[in-house]
Amino acid sequence: MFRRLSIAVRTAAFVGIACFTLLAIDAWNSWQARTQLVAQMSVAASNLARAMAQHGDDTLKKADIVLAGVVERVEQDGTDAAAVARLRKVLAMRVAELPELDGLHIYDQDGNWVANSRPTPPENLNNANREYFVFHRAHEDRGPHIGTPVKSRTTGRLLIPVSRRIDHADGSFGGVVLATINVDFFVKFYDSLYIGRDGAVGLVLDTGTMMTRRPYSPETVGKNVTGADFFRTYVAQGPVGTAYIKSAQDGVTRLNSFRRLDQFPLFVTAALSKDEILAAWWRDALWHTAGILILASLVGFVGWRLIRQIELSTRSESDLRQARDALETLNKTLETLAMEDGLTGLANRRQFDVTLDSEFGRAVREASTLALIMIDVDCFKQYNDIYGHAAGDECLQSISRTVARLTSRRAGDLAARYGGEELAVLLPHTDVEGALVLAEQIRNAVRDLKIAHAGAAGGFVTLSAGVDALSPVPGRGLPKELIRAADKALYAAKTAGRNRVCSAGQPAPA
Ligand code: GH3
Ligand code: MG
Ligand code: MG
Repeated sequence: MFRRLSIAVRTAAFVGIACFTLLAIDAWNSWQARTQLVAQMSVAASNLARAMAQHGDDTLKKADIVLAGVVERVEQDGTDAAAVARLRKVLAMRVAELPELDGLHIYDQDGNWVANSRPTPPENLNNANREYFVFHRAHEDRGPHIGTPVKSRTTGRLLIPVSRRIDHADGSFGGVVLATINVDFFVKFYDSLYIGRDGAVGLVLDTGTMMTRRPYSPETVGKNVTGADFFRTYVAQGPVGTAYIKSAQDGVTRLNSFRRLDQFPLFVTAALSKDEILAAWWRDALWHTAGILILASLVGFVGWRLIRQIELSTRSESDLRQARDALETLNKTLETLAMEDGLTGLANRRQFDVTLDSEFGRAVREASTLALIMIDVDCFKQYNDIYGHAAGDECLQSISRTVARLTSRRAGDLAARYGGEELAVLLPHTDVEGALVLAEQIRNAVRDLKIAHAGAAGGFVTLSAGVDALSPVPGRGLPKELIRAADKALYAAKTAGRNRVCSAGQPAPA
């Protein structure tokens, strides 16, 4: 079926497929690039969360190790004046060693300050109403407790409290050791991470209290975020996960990666803006698409011009073919006209001469006989005189039709108008006897036409014929001799009284 389609259609299909393939390949490439970018982004977010979780764990762990040591000391040495003096030194030393620590504080079972890391002795402030104090008093658990962020009553800084319970020797509540971590310490670390313009990170208590976040603002510290989408996703998906979340605040869709700290009941969340990550990809994809569209249009335009060219040349080819066919038909008509007699439709004298020559040559080559019948209408001059020239023409046409009918039975035979009212019939591969038979048939048939002729002996138009045949020998004899001999026989038929057939070298029949 493809073969039957025109070149123009096939070219159009080719150009269409080429353009489509260009676009499809580019679209596929772009999509691949996007998929890769999104995968890289997911890896980056999850690495970020892992690093933040590690940082959180390390920071809290360091504070907790110090706490455990202090608890042990207080429980062993008690809190008399000498012990407190020693403790104060230890506390100051630890805080100096660890930049993340803002302070270390010891409270007794009533919430009164026992000692702290500051050079100045504690003022007589009571912290019994603080959340961590209330917690430890109510819980016998001896592990660390991360409290909700507090504002320092002395410095006004935002602090994350990490605390442990002190027990009396009998196991009853003996107070609290508290380490405070500067929220700023986390803020600085989070500010050093590359998260783009619209990225966000945060540290959150499992219970839904925001410890700190970037972008930072003091109001967000200690805020309850249990209603936020990222918190709900964390609760639903478990300790480690990733999700696309559209922010209710700024409408930005972010890829959120969250991870729970290994050793403390907190989790971190790292969120990268999807649009920001894909911005470069979008720019690339648009440039590509524009380039490919220009290329495809160029291919389409060139293809269109090509198709038009093909159509034009196909059309002119078919025009040329038609013109050639018309010319051939015209030539054939001209040829026929040139070889045909206008009045009778028989072959004309020129064709007769040409055919006689070629048939003579053939007879020589094939050593066959060639016969000729010369026919002349009887008393035709008189016919014209009596019935007029036009009637004479019609009479000639009737006679010619009869001759043509009787000679059309064999392919090689040729009936021609030799001149005036004389006709000649050339019969290849025919001897005198055969030619005589045909001549008789023609004579009888014309007589049977019963064309009235007042000037003729029988009252109808008749004709006389002279016949001869020869087997030409190479180098001897000429076509003219055959004509002469047949003519002579015709003359004999005329002199013998007309309306008869004579052959050369044979007495005319009575
Ligand atoms: P015959 O042959 O019997 O001896 O007598 P004829 O009267 O036929 O004599 P001839 O053959 O000499 O005359 C030929 C005449 O045929 C002369 C001319 O008037 C007529 N003729 C020749 N060609 C045409 C033609 O094309 N149309 C018509 N109407 N007459 C023609
Ligand atoms: Mg004549
Ligand atoms: Mg005549």
